[in-house]
Amino acid sequence: MKRVLTTCPYCGTGCCFYLVVNDQGQLVGVEGDSEHVVTKGQLCVKGWTAYQFPNHPDRLTDPMIRRNGKMVKASWDEALNLIVSRFKDIQEKYGTDSVAFFSSAKTTNEENYLMNKLARAVYKTNNVDHCARLCHASTVVGLAGTFGSGAMTNSISCMDEADCFFVTGSNTTEQHPLIGTRIIRRVLERGAKLIVADNRKIRLAEFADLHIRWKNGTDVPFLNSIMNVIISEGLEDKEFVANRTENYEELKKVVANYPPEKAAEICGITAEEIVQAARMFAKADKAMIVYSMGITQHTHGVDNVKTCANLVMLTGNLGKPGTGVNPLRGQNNVQGACDMGALSNVFTGYQKVTDAPVREKFEKAWGVRNLPGEVGLTVTTAINAAADGKLKGLFVLGENPMMSDPDQNHVREALEALDFLVVVDIFPTQTSELADVILPAACYAEKDGTFTSTERRVQRVRKAVDPPGQARADWEILCDLAKRAGYDGMQYSSPSEIMDEAASVTPIYGGISFDRIDQVGLQWPCPAPDHPGTPVLHVGKFTRGLGLFSPAEYIPSAELPDAEYPFILSTGRSYFHFHTGTMTRRTRILDREQPGPYVEMNLEDAKELGVRDKEWVFVSTRRGEVRAKALVSENIRQGVLFMVFHFEEGPANLLTINALDPVAKIPEYKVCAARVRRAS
Ligand code: SF4
Repeated sequence: MKRVLTTCPYCGTGCCFYLVVNDQGQLVGVEGDSEHVVTKGQLCVKGWTAYQFPNHPDRLTDPMIRRNGKMVKASWDEALNLIVSRFKDIQEKYGTDSVAFFSSAKTTNEENYLMNKLARAVYKTNNVDHCARLCHASTVVGLAGTFGSGAMTNSISCMDEADCFFVTGSNTTEQHPLIGTRIIRRVLERGAKLIVADNRKIRLAEFADLHIRWKNGTDVPFLNSIMNVIISEGLEDKEFVANRTENYEELKKVVANYPPEKAAEICGITAEEIVQAARMFAKADKAMIVYSMGITQHTHGVDNVKTCANLVMLTGNLGKPGTGVNPLRGQNNVQGACDMGALSNVFTGYQKVTDAPVREKFEKAWGVRNLPGEVGLTVTTAINAAADGKLKGLFVLGENPMMSDPDQNHVREALEALDFLVVVDIFPTQTSELADVILPAACYAEKDGTFTSTERRVQRVRKAVDPPGQARADWEILCDLAKRAGYDGMQYSSPSEIMDEAASVTPIYGGISFDRIDQVGLQWPCPAPDHPGTPVLHVGKFTRGLGLFSPAEYIPSAELPDAEYPFILSTGRSYFHFHTGTMTRRTRILDREQPGPYVEMNLEDAKELGVRDKEWVFVSTRRGEVRAKALVSENIRQGVLFMVFHFEEGPANLLTINALDPVAKIPEYKVCAARVRRAS
């Protein structure tokens, strides 16, 4: 047996483990890494079973080309040459920006770096983006605006020092199980206070001092009101506010409009709950906000994030252990994909494409001229552009927009309207069904590279086994493609060499190399080879200098319940599955534990509709209708439905609304109007 140390391919916690390989070169198990700096050998069920899906017989093993409406096997030469010539034709006919590239939060940093380089240096477009647009685009924009850096301010280990947790919009024990466990341990063993804001009775709520079940989409008035109480009771950190922040007077003015009684009415809670939350958070010595997509996935997602940042600045909970604004990133490398420039407005390290000196720097490094200076299409706006006939060619690496993007019928219409669609993946997906070319990729266990976890920790991914059939690592595919497109600047002997180049143009990664992170990952910013990495951001000074209070007014969600669609539908993930289910639904234990679509609904609502627990129902919105099993309980607030988006046979994203935050372009997955009827 061989044991190969690598990083988990699922959530952003970034657990490392050993893949166990037998003498026939097959993956047969996983062993925890007891030395791991964050998780000390512990894993959740997804990590323990992460050796199974790479062996699944559905793996894509050969390049495929659509001929006469049918997908047929092709050679790599045929498939790659076809992509190069079709993209060339499209750009000649419709212009440079008629093609787009979707990168992936599941692939490595090195591969995301190459996607950013391929799109910009070879195809001269900033139409490159990835699914952070669907989960944490609001975080990147909101925290960059307030602090100057759009990432988790603290480390996971900081949770061992917090005196108060404010967990909002994060079902932590299900989505980031080892972080959830850490919070519970701190609460039980050290008496830390726990405020949970969630309209479902999630597991963390069982341990909470205060569980607040506000109406979806009312985070801004809720948080503004908490700040209103803090200021009116003199509980703000006056010294921090005076020395470390700006725009406080504006904040005071806005939150003055949200006295608890008024906010309570908007949020559907009591004024007393707001007052209690305010006192609990402000009086704690070290308090932190932990949030996830319940905060970000709204048409006012950026406002939500900024409002979280305001609360933490107001109480001086920044720049020290046990505090901070801690957005938990959902996918293994969504942080890294953002860091590596797989975003339509920035190169690596959040260097803006609109800055001429930045473009000059990259032109020099990449040996090209005239890098585009206009912000490109995002994942969400590219789909709209395809539906409008403005986008003609799309290259999708390791993503499945048919399942992950809002309003599935709209996405299908958009993808079908393309002249040419390329999908690179490890399994057939609902998106690859529509492709003109499919390229088989190596999975995480079959290649080298790095992932960056939610706490900004860059860690090694190592090849344990060979990819099946003719599948190749994404970085090899991208380099081959660039060469065939006539660009010589993307030839590397290994991912380590790619990281060296990425580090040389990315100040926050400047000191990161494969050698340095061989055993223990490093947290960025790590600007120089002798820099130890940065566990806590904004110590003594914010990245932007002073923290900027950025108050927001309440804006209702885009589509609220009415007589026709009386429920709020909210969507998310479950403990047993990951994203669009491509990998976890091909993992025996996970699929057995949660085999199909369900909708959570309140007992009183179910009684009124005559729906029994585990009965099949139809959930519909103005976009369509899906069938799901009703999970009836008192765990969810009356008037709210909750569905997960993993299941092809009950796709929640057939129902969700394609309404976007105006700045971050993130969809409003957490609120749309829906109704339910019995299936029989
Ligand atoms: Fe993997 Fe996340 Fe589970 Fe850790 S907590 S084993 S990173 S899915």
